[in-house]
Amino acid sequence: MAKTWNAKAYAAASPTSSLASTTIQRRDPSERDVHIDILFCGICHSDLHTVRDEWKSVFPTVYPCVPGHEIVGRVTRVGSAVTKFKAGDLAAVGCLVDADRTCSECKAGLEQFCPNMTLTYNSSDKYIGGVTYGGYSESIVVDERFVLRMPSKLDLAGAAPLLCAGITTYSPMRHWGVTKNKKVGVVGLGGLGHMAVKIAHALGAHVVVFTTSPGKKEDAVRLGADEVVISRHSNEMKKHTGSFDFILDAVSADHDINAYIDLLRRDGTLTLVGAPEKPLEVAAFSLIFGRRNLSGSPIGGIPETQEMLDFCGTHNITADVEVIPIQKVNEAYDRLLKSDVKYRFSIDMASLKSG
Ligand code: NAP
Ligand code: ZN
Repeated sequence: MAKTWNAKAYAAASPTSSLASTTIQRRDPSERDVHIDILFCGICHSDLHTVRDEWKSVFPTVYPCVPGHEIVGRVTRVGSAVTKFKAGDLAAVGCLVDADRTCSECKAGLEQFCPNMTLTYNSSDKYIGGVTYGGYSESIVVDERFVLRMPSKLDLAGAAPLLCAGITTYSPMRHWGVTKNKKVGVVGLGGLGHMAVKIAHALGAHVVVFTTSPGKKEDAVRLGADEVVISRHSNEMKKHTGSFDFILDAVSADHDINAYIDLLRRDGTLTLVGAPEKPLEVAAFSLIFGRRNLSGSPIGGIPETQEMLDFCGTHNITADVEVIPIQKVNEAYDRLLKSDVKYRFSIDMASLKSG
């Protein structure tokens, strides 16, 4: 068992508890490990689903739970065999901190499909036992293979959300061939949705945002949308019937996906990245007419995450963030549930020093 030391963190003790200050164990870096002092950590809606055990049928939450998988920080120590990083470098960690490295998925750089992957939080910790703890903490120790290089020019608070919201939207858009002149829909203008708009726009697509929040219309255009549809207005929806090449659904709660499947052209694809607590109903004829595809997509592998970071560096893309101290995390969760975030909370981890 690796030697450990105490690190400050914020954790939830049960599905109904608020997050509160605590101490967790981190391992001493082994020869391939990188020790990162965390500067910023984004708040993903997945953190909230996990803290409240809303995904218990697939990923039951083990408490205490320290969420956070949008991590940017500074390297303070490295193991003797580390070659990619040295003390003083910026570094980032996303949703994965390990995988078996031997399966065909890992060999293809698709660690997000490895049957033995280790998620950044709420996975078994093979080094020190118990479960892994995420980025709502002062530091993290990760094998260099799962640590990303940060493009130097990006604002760090805004870059942290790229590690989940960025890659989760970039990966399916690359997979399904979002390019210039493709008509692309983005459903739900939250953390993931607003990154999808920026990335799809940078890829040259014609971007249409679907939102339930009329107050987000101007922002959607500023973020890169060519058109904005208020999804509760069925006449506005109907105008787009049968016209989309690709739609990315990033909604965190129950909603009617058939209304969007009907907007796909022949052979078009709707990809779910949003992961609501309850199953969604699919109307067979929405898929049958038009031979349409319904798919899903999880995060992204390490090589593609680096590619996405470099792409965002080149195009100067970061999240629009509201920077908060860790002490405001519970308030931030309440606002996330009301779709009241523009468009990602990013925790300034320096605040952890004061409690
Ligand atoms: P978020 O910031 O809370 O955004 C969700 C957006 O969904 C809201 O801003 C809102 O947009 C829309 N929405 C919320 N409730 C709705 C309702 N009842 N009906 C219709 N629209 C509603 O969440 P996020 O962090 O972007 O995450 C979105 C989802 O993706 C979550 O379920 C999260 O767990 C999941 N996720 C999946 C992956 C993956 O690997 N597949 C990775 C990360 C996150 P409008 O105000 O514009 O309507
Ligand atoms: Zn996430």
